[in-house]
Amino acid sequence: MVDISNIRKSICIIGKLLFNRGLTDSSGGNISVRDNDKIYITPKSSGFDYQWSIEEDQIIVTDLCKMPILGDPEKVSRESATHYYIYQNFPEVNAIIHAHPVFFNAFNSAHMSLPAVNEGTRLILGDQPITNIEESIPCSVEQAEKIIINFKQRKKIDPNAALICGIPFHGSFAAGPNLNHVFVYTESADVCAKTIIYRKLMFEGVPEADFSIHKKFTQQEIESVEESKEVCQSGYKYKDAFGNIITYDKGRSVNSKQGNIDPDIVNKITKEILENIKKQ
Ligand SMILES: [Zn+2]
Repeated sequence: MVDISNIRKSICIIGKLLFNRGLTDSSGGNISVRDNDKIYITPKSSGFDYQWSIEEDQIIVTDLCKMPILGDPEKVSRESATHYYIYQNFPEVNAIIHAHPVFFNAFNSAHMSLPAVNEGTRLILGDQPITNIEESIPCSVEQAEKIIINFKQRKKIDPNAALICGIPFHGSFAAGPNLNHVFVYTESADVCAKTIIYRKLMFEGVPEADFSIHKKFTQQEIESVEESKEVCQSGYKYKDAFGNIITYDKGRSVNSKQGNIDPDIVNKITKEILENIKKQ
C-alpha cells in the first residue's frame, strides 16, 4: 500500500507501478487526486516521454475547473475533461486512474462486460459486472459524459459500487476514495479478465474442468466470519520460546511445569530477538 499522504510522490509511485505491472503503456494513462479544492494531475505524455518515470515537480495542481495553482495547466493530461467531470459530479471521489490494461481491454474491445470471478475481485469490485461505454473519441467531452452516465448507473444499482468502466479499444477509468483504492480497482479488473481468458484457453472443452461450481459467498457471509484470534487447536503440544513443552488450551498456553515465567527470562529473550533482527 502506497503512502498517499504525500500526494505528488504517491502519484509518481502509482504511475510507475501501473507501467511496471503492464496495467498501462507508453501510449497513455493518467492519474489525478483531489485534495479538498485542489486537483493534482499528471502531465501529458507521462508514458510516451517519460515511460512513467515522472518526478513530483511535474505534477500539476489546479482548482476544480482546471484554473492553475502550480505548474503549467497547458501540460495537464489530455484526458483532463473526464477527470474534472468526474470530480464535479461525484463529491465522494478523491482519486482517478485512466489506464490501458491489456487483458481488460480484450473484453471492452469485444464489447463484453466483465464479471467478477475471483473472490478478491468480487469483494473489491462487487457482483455488478464492469460495463463499457460506447466507443468515443479519446479525451473528448463526449467520452467524459458517457463515463459519468455509466458511473451514475452503477451507483443507482448499488450506491457502494466501485466506479470503474471500460472504453472500447482503449482502456479503463476508475474513480474512488483514494489512490490505493483506484489502483486496486484497475488491477483487480485486469486480474479478473486474465483469469477468465486463461481459464477459457486452458480448460474449455476439457472434460474434467467444471466451470459451474462457484458458491459466490455473499458480502454478509464473508463479513459474518468473526476474525479468529485462535490459530491453534486445543491439545496441541509444542515447545515454547522458553524451551518448555506445553499444551495449547482454550486460547492460553498452559505450562506443563505449572510454573510462572520469570520476567527476567522474557526480557532476555526479547533482547536476543531484537539483536538478531539488527544483525540481519
Ligand atoms: Zn488512454
